[in-house]
Amino acid sequence: MRDLLNKNYLEKQDIITLLSANEEDTKALFSKASEIKEKHVGNKVYFRGLIEFSNICGKNCYYCGIRAGNNNVNRYNLTDDEILDCARFAYENHYASVVLQSGELANEVFSKRIENLLTEIKHLSNNRLGITLSLGEQSEEVYQRWFNAGCHRYLLRIESANKELFQKIHPNNEHHSFETRLNCLKMLKKIGYQVGTGVMIGLPFQTLEDLADDLLFLREFDVDMVGMGPYIEHPDTPLYEYRDLLLPRPERLQLGLKMIAILRIMMKDINIAAATALQAIDPMGREKGIKVGANIIMPNVTPGEYRNSYKLYSDKPCTDENPDDCTQCLEARISMTGNTIGFDEWGDSKHFKEKKRPE
Ligand code: SF4
Repeated sequence: MRDLLNKNYLEKQDIITLLSANEEDTKALFSKASEIKEKHVGNKVYFRGLIEFSNICGKNCYYCGIRAGNNNVNRYNLTDDEILDCARFAYENHYASVVLQSGELANEVFSKRIENLLTEIKHLSNNRLGITLSLGEQSEEVYQRWFNAGCHRYLLRIESANKELFQKIHPNNEHHSFETRLNCLKMLKKIGYQVGTGVMIGLPFQTLEDLADDLLFLREFDVDMVGMGPYIEHPDTPLYEYRDLLLPRPERLQLGLKMIAILRIMMKDINIAAATALQAIDPMGREKGIKVGANIIMPNVTPGEYRNSYKLYSDKPCTDENPDDCTQCLEARISMTGNTIGFDEWGDSKHFKEKKRPE
């Protein structure tokens, strides 16, 4: 297996072999990924202050705790002033970037609201806060308006690159279409966003072959950023019925770390986030993600009182903390990994910049 780590181009079977690596070989995989990360993106971790401003969603994804059909959720929607306060907190604490995330809504009131918020956030930070949006599927016109208003990165997870599996974890209707998701990703790329996507790891019905295909999809689509983490079941969701098919959580975590490490080897200069779901399984999960190739962390800057109501999955960590606690806790945790924090730096995807460079 060690020979695979020195290959320039991993094929599907190579990836499956790496995903099945035993303990000893996994150590070699992690160490190779860490070496590549240091060489290509450095040992710096960049912050994206995450503002989960509303858990109101029009969709019904089978794995998600805030799906429209779940009546056991307290729905909330921060005011514009509260959202701007979160952005100000991120700016004043040198985070350099924020992510605006919410359940998915597609209507003109929502589009206009986001457009105004983007303008306001740029204004309050003298144009210095970088902004990522994670607001699901929208029309090309809306994506373009948000880009014009100052957003330059967009996260839209494909969740699974296997259409059949995608269809098993979503309702079978036009609001949950694999083709639409793919089209949205293409539109975002065309407009000029740094595009991020990602998948869930350890889903029921998912095979190692599916995961290898997910990694091949990320390379083929030439993504700039990836956020992927272990699937964690939520009791108020239809997919919970299949929990007996799941790997034990520690194994899902290990698979998640292997996916990050292999992706770092395949796509050396992209941004990879250490997803919060890693920490939901292991208190040191995100730090482990950083050690094996991730270089982005999304500290939650949503006021603590709302975090408990934004649970896409169970056991989400840090739901009872405030943003101040997060910053201090993270600084200590990141320095333990031998990385430093890129305060006041956007930390944009090097891969994106290289693509834009004229030949
Ligand atoms: S995954 Fe996103 S779009 Fe799907 S139900 Fe949850 S919040 Fe809504």
